[in-house]
Amino acid sequence: MQFNELGLSEPLLRAVARAGYETPSPIQQAAIPPALLGKDVLGCAQTGTGKTAAFSLPILHRIDQLAGKEPCLRALILTPTRELAAQIGQSLETYGKDLDLYHTVIFGGVSEKPQIAELKRGVDILVATPGRLLDLMQQGHIDLSKLNIFVLDEADRMLDMGFIHDVRKVVNALPRSRQTLFFSATMPNEIKTLADRLLVDPVTVTVTPVSSTAEKIDQSVYFVDKALKPKLLLKVLTNPACERVLVFSRTKHGANRIATALEKARISAAAIHGNKSQGARTTALEGFRSGRVRVLVATDIAARGIDVDGVTHVINYDIPNVPETYVHRIGRTARAGQEGTAFSFCESEERRDFRAIEKLIGMKVTEVSEPGFEAGTAPDERPQMAPRHHQGGRPQADRGRSDRGGRPGQRPMGASGDRSSERRSPPRGRRPGSVQKARSGPPRPAP
Ligand code: AMP
Repeated sequence: MQFNELGLSEPLLRAVARAGYETPSPIQQAAIPPALLGKDVLGCAQTGTGKTAAFSLPILHRIDQLAGKEPCLRALILTPTRELAAQIGQSLETYGKDLDLYHTVIFGGVSEKPQIAELKRGVDILVATPGRLLDLMQQGHIDLSKLNIFVLDEADRMLDMGFIHDVRKVVNALPRSRQTLFFSATMPNEIKTLADRLLVDPVTVTVTPVSSTAEKIDQSVYFVDKALKPKLLLKVLTNPACERVLVFSRTKHGANRIATALEKARISAAAIHGNKSQGARTTALEGFRSGRVRVLVATDIAARGIDVDGVTHVINYDIPNVPETYVHRIGRTARAGQEGTAFSFCESEERRDFRAIEKLIGMKVTEVSEPGFEAGTAPDERPQMAPRHHQGGRPQADRGRSDRGGRPGQRPMGASGDRSSERRSPPRGRRPGSVQKARSGPPRPAP
């Protein structure tokens, strides 16, 4: 299927072509046509599948048809993190370049003032994180009465991050008659219940079921004593194939400690987590994107949704205690048709959590070991699998590369998407303040 078969308007087709996308990804093929018809959509898809365009393109198309002379808030996109919010803003900017629409992005951790000023000038589409949205709603800066479309992005992540209560508050303030597009990588019960409440007769689109996403990544686990994890990390990183590595730490403090130890060992590293300023997070991310920073150490909250291509390795320095988090973490590699590897460092106390992960993904993760780093305790816990030793730094998995990927309908993107050109394009015609808009003509007067 081609983009011009989806029913999108010419300006959007031009924007998609400029972005270098050749064919719509599976979620785009499945979600865009019903979304254009105004139907509710339940999308089970994680980042990396092209879901942002899957909701942004139909929103821009529909809002462009509805837009009057003055900007008026017609679409709200709620997303859990500031990074995701900013990325969605960038996508709207890219795809909406030839349309006469305004959007803005609001999130916490930065001054409210420019955001309020922008809202006062009027926007058609608002991208927001829940906390700041509620703050500004309570202050009376946001009028949701004319809203036509509501997008809930990464609903399961909202739950993980403790935002579900805020999400419910926002939902209660929305007009009843509206279109809802609901995206979640996983469907825990609480999210299913929320989806049932929000969606009316939705079209359900599932592109990468959790387990199959995990299957496509070359995963292995080291059973290692806690005290040896720092050294094991250094050892693993001696492999030059570990070019762009995302290390997950359960705590902010741990993330700092890991990054400092790496820097000491002359491995360029940076940490991102909620205690870092927005500026520090942006610098770390840019460094990671550009390749200046080889290892980015992140907490789950900070890392979720980060759109960085070419992550060669994800390392679970700590094992997450929510199994779905593992899937989210390793999903940061092997994106858009690239190969990816995930290592987990599992100490004896984490074995139970790791078994829960294996249950969720429906497969046994290949056990590997480095001489001198074998776990000293509980070796009888995994009797089925003999440890293997690294050869040339990369664990030898049971499965060859050839039996992953290339399964029709499961690989997210074609390799053709030119993401770099999207990122390189300069923001156009920014209004004063921290705002991006999606139009090329002179600004419309503020209402
Ligand atoms: P997302 O899942 O929305 O985070 O998108 C992942 C990446 O895929 C982004 O960098 C997009 O620019 C890119 N992308 C989205 N749609 C396509 C497409 N149809 N072809 C190629 N790349 C795409």
